[in-house]
Amino acid sequence: MQIADAKLLKEKLGEILVDGPLYRKFAYTGRDCHFTRRGAMPGTDRYGELPSELRMICGNAKCKAPEWWKVSSDEVFFGSDFIKQRRYTCKNCGQSTQHYEFIWQENKDVNLFIKVGQWPPSSIDPSPELEKALGPEDSELYKKGLVNFQFGYGIGAVAYFRRVLENKINALLDLIAEAARNESIANEHIASIEDVKNSHRVEDKIVVASKILPAHLKPGGHNPLDKLYAPLSAGLHGESDDECLETFAEARFVFEYLFKNLTESNEEARKYVQRLSAPGSQEKPAQAGQAEQGEKLKK
Ligand SMILES: [Zn+2]
Repeated sequence: MQIADAKLLKEKLGEILVDGPLYRKFAYTGRDCHFTRRGAMPGTDRYGELPSELRMICGNAKCKAPEWWKVSSDEVFFGSDFIKQRRYTCKNCGQSTQHYEFIWQENKDVNLFIKVGQWPPSSIDPSPELEKALGPEDSELYKKGLVNFQFGYGIGAVAYFRRVLENKINALLDLIAEAARNESIANEHIASIEDVKNSHRVEDKIVVASKILPAHLKPGGHNPLDKLYAPLSAGLHGESDDECLETFAEARFVFEYLFKNLTESNEEARKYVQRLSAPGSQEKPAQAGQAEQGEKLKK
């Protein structure tokens, strides 16, 4: 991969540090994304910059949310230790720390960055909402998928993910259908949900789900459900561990995004309707309510 400037490199390194598996080689070309310290001895003067801040969940009782974490020092000299270390500290509580160990080399042809250590380890626990939606059995399979991913076993990760997807695609269809109804989308495909739920082909279910997915869940016109096809065949047709890691990461993002957003917006819509239909409410929920609710969901 050709990296043109330091900004792009920081983005990639940020992804690797926060979500990337251990021991996976990130090889890239380009020298303009690195720097030279003036006045330093040649051979020891080249350095790269880590992202000065990372966005990660903080488990501290004061935070319990995504926070910004600041690095102890963002400049990393290539001529220093073979295994390099940095610490990121949560800016909100000032207490939680995340330590990383990595190899980072500037070479004539291909540069290399490998995350080789992380403490505390990445959580393999799904979010409480997702865990509830998955149930105990599929939560366990999902966690096994994440463990495989963290150690770079992409083929194993997609195999576990595929099983969870097969088991939970009907639940996802129900959530999407409810969201579509809440938006008062007149859609003949909503009716086909019950039929396709009995099908054994996950692919068919994704096709129907794509047709009724409300527009606010298709940012920029992209249909996130497209990303769910890849894990169905990945690893079965000779894809490498590395390719499967990409597939898993993208599918996982979409899967969690949809479950979280659909669960929240459906819940919100339910409360809204309940409130409007409560005795004493001045509005007629069937008219004023639905229009406003549609607006609300689009945000
Ligand atoms: Zn914190």
